Amino acid sequence: MDYITKLRYVNKLPHHVDGNRRNTVIRQYQKWKGTSHVPDQVNEHLFWSTQKNAMPLLSVVTDSPWQLLDKDPTKLKGVTKSKATPNFVPAQGSTSLPTSSSSKKRKADVKEEPANKIHKTSSTISPTGLNWDGDNYSCAYDSLITVLFEIWKDNLFSWNVNANFLKSKYLETLGKGFVMVSQGNNTLENVRDDIRKLLHTKNKNLFCYGRVGTSLSDLALEIFRSSVNISHSQEQCTNCDFTANRREDELGSVFVLKATSTLSTSHALQTFGYNSANSCPMCLANMRVEVFYTYFPSILVFDHTVYFIKPSKDIKFRGDDNKVVHYRLRGLLYFGSFHFTSRILSLDGDVWYHDGMQTGDKFVSHGHRKFMSDDDWQKCKGRKLVMSIYMKIS
Ligand SMILES: [Zn+2]
Repeated sequence: MDYITKLRYVNKLPHHVDGNRRNTVIRQYQKWKGTSHVPDQVNEHLFWSTQKNAMPLLSVVTDSPWQLLDKDPTKLKGVTKSKATPNFVPAQGSTSLPTSSSSKKRKADVKEEPANKIHKTSSTISPTGLNWDGDNYSCAYDSLITVLFEIWKDNLFSWNVNANFLKSKYLETLGKGFVMVSQGNNTLENVRDDIRKLLHTKNKNLFCYGRVGTSLSDLALEIFRSSVNISHSQEQCTNCDFTANRREDELGSVFVLKATSTLSTSHALQTFGYNSANSCPMCLANMRVEVFYTYFPSILVFDHTVYFIKPSKDIKFRGDDNKVVHYRLRGLLYFGSFHFTSRILSLDGDVWYHDGMQTGDKFVSHGHRKFMSDDDWQKCKGRKLVMSIYMKIS
């Protein structure tokens, strides 16, 4: 209780909360719901303590093996706890990454492989990127659409179901455009320009033409915006078994993560939630708001523009019906020197790099994901990782 009392105190000091602590706290709700919702410092502790309520929370049941490499013992605590929960499913293929020296060696090997490696991908259609538009800077669109096209190719049906469910005109337009491209009746650049026109019509200040940059964050938020609610939130007591009624929540396909963190995307989900301003009506203890999906979108986007986070390769949730919902990392977007680039990952783990300004519609092989170290993901040709995109695979 001393600990909780201390937390209460800390919660009244948002500046300290924003400070140098290591836990992932999601600021999205501050933006949405005002600063009265201050994320706590040990949310993972509180989160796991609510597991006994066995509600279909936004419960991530596995994590990337990368997190196990973390040298900070306090960070490992989250992993240990997650293993201890009944909801935990062991990470598949959670083998250690190669040491940095061996990984470098392997990467060098890969680099020397002949170009025919390029033809070995999981998709039936070779990766195709977008040519950069130098008159109307398009790299934000190019990098995002490049990844989305790959995801579309791997599951057209799922794309359409998702676009219909979310009533998203952008996703529908993209889907129709991708069909034309795959039939050879249109170019990806035209599809991009059509989407661009729609966005410009919606908001000409955010999505402008000319030799100016576009915010990838704004772009992703707008493309995945939906009028359909796909999440609920629920207040739960941190002390007793009290849970309040579910409410609709604004969480959609895009997670805007703003806290300073070196942990993984999966961990960010594990700790997703925030402290309630209300006290428990039964025991007056603090309450915590947990967020969970009522519909799992086919694509999840993590916007981590302002800080470093490890992109977990696989993320699994326990759904309402106790079925495991599995997402796999499919795209990484990078920013630096006023330019966005992208990497895509095939379902088999082949890594491809695209920069429409340098190589047009061509991809460059970056080997296989198992040869990539943490640092390899964080940076790409001097640019910082700013967004990771996941596709639901089951
Ligand atoms: Zn209570």
